[in-house]
Amino acid sequence: MSSVFNRSNFPDKELLQAASSFGTPAYLYSQKVLEETASEALRFSAPYGLTVRYAMKALPSAAILRIFTAKGLGIDASSGYEVLRAERAGIPSRNITLTAQELPEFFTELIERGVSFNACSLHQLESFGTHFNGRSVGVRFNPGLGSGHANRVNTGGPASSFGIWHEHVAEVKRLAGKHSLTVERIHSHIGAGTDPEVWVHCARLTLAMAAQFETATTVSLGGGFKVARMPDETPADLRKIGSAVKEEIEKFESSYGRKLHLEIEPGTYLTANAGVVISKIIDISDTGSNGYKFLKVDAGMTEVLRPSLYGAQHPMWSVPLGGSAQGGGDYLVVGHCCESGDILTPAPSNPEGLLPRRFSQPAIGDLLIIGACGAYCAGMPAKNYNSFPEAPELLLESSGGIRMIRKRQTLDQMLQNEQCSPN
Ligand SMILES: *Cc1c(COP(=O)(O)O)cnc(C)c1O
Repeated sequence: MSSVFNRSNFPDKELLQAASSFGTPAYLYSQKVLEETASEALRFSAPYGLTVRYAMKALPSAAILRIFTAKGLGIDASSGYEVLRAERAGIPSRNITLTAQELPEFFTELIERGVSFNACSLHQLESFGTHFNGRSVGVRFNPGLGSGHANRVNTGGPASSFGIWHEHVAEVKRLAGKHSLTVERIHSHIGAGTDPEVWVHCARLTLAMAAQFETATTVSLGGGFKVARMPDETPADLRKIGSAVKEEIEKFESSYGRKLHLEIEPGTYLTANAGVVISKIIDISDTGSNGYKFLKVDAGMTEVLRPSLYGAQHPMWSVPLGGSAQGGGDYLVVGHCCESGDILTPAPSNPEGLLPRRFSQPAIGDLLIIGACGAYCAGMPAKNYNSFPEAPELLLESSGGIRMIRKRQTLDQMLQNEQCSPN
């Protein structure tokens, strides 16, 4: 099951080879795990048809988009620029849906090329209708419930700005009528976590919206399927959730006579456990007998921002390279930025807190592997902070080879848009 992080997908030999050929820090992704998770998602049960869209903001590199497209997944883009990026990667426009907080000025071009659209606010629906009178459209609702693991990843409920509030159905209908729009898809994405009961509840709320739009032929439940990055975490069980949701869609059919097509849009689930960051221990220090011991690595918030942002937990282990080992013990792992928040071992869900980890024989020069770095790491860095270049991305291919899919950024690339008068 790829919903649980498995260190054996990243053997020492490959990690050492990647580090010696491409340097550290570097991201390494497993093609095998990416393809397995895609297959698992495609087995989600849907009585009247299923589309799985990859929420590309989780890991937007072209090579990854192509792997998922080859598996038969569509793309969910969170901004106009993501649509352009996917198109440049060779993804056909008709395979892409735009579900965005910000409608780009060029959105009409995207729609004309065949990108489908979920209106995420009344204003977006009005803008779409003004340009595309008589077309079909999706509408993203906020069904009034959320259950992300922290407030910052909650995407439903009254404190979330994503989607049209569920009580504004009449206004949606008025705008649709005014512009002769056909509401064909009802969308929600609340980040429902692991509990099948919560998913059923979320599906019911979304279907209740679909019931109010007779033209709706598709429901999308979004993403938010939780994975286990750490051994003590519980992942979402896609089979259980799928069979519970399937029942709801069948009930809907018997009540309303409509066979709804189902869409899901995982980001995290498809990528989180498919990647690691390979870093190197660059220093070991301490703050005395009443203080802490620190492992300093050549990566940090510039590669993995989630711990600083959410107090997210990532598994870590060292791969010895023959340096002189320190005694084992509990260490805080800190990143290379001159920033006190650059901590890779915060307390769970508390970026202000500290929770040292046990390491048996760490040595300066060892590799320090940060696990479960596929989702929201390379795509969501504190980019170029302290002027560190973007790390390269590597793919551990199914054949066993290691291929670079994004080069390390150079200083020239980092500075290329600066304008200074000649001196
Ligand atoms: C981010 C996003 C997703 C994916 O969320 P995960 O928690 O990564 O699965 C799905 N749908 C939409 C609309 C999103 O914005």
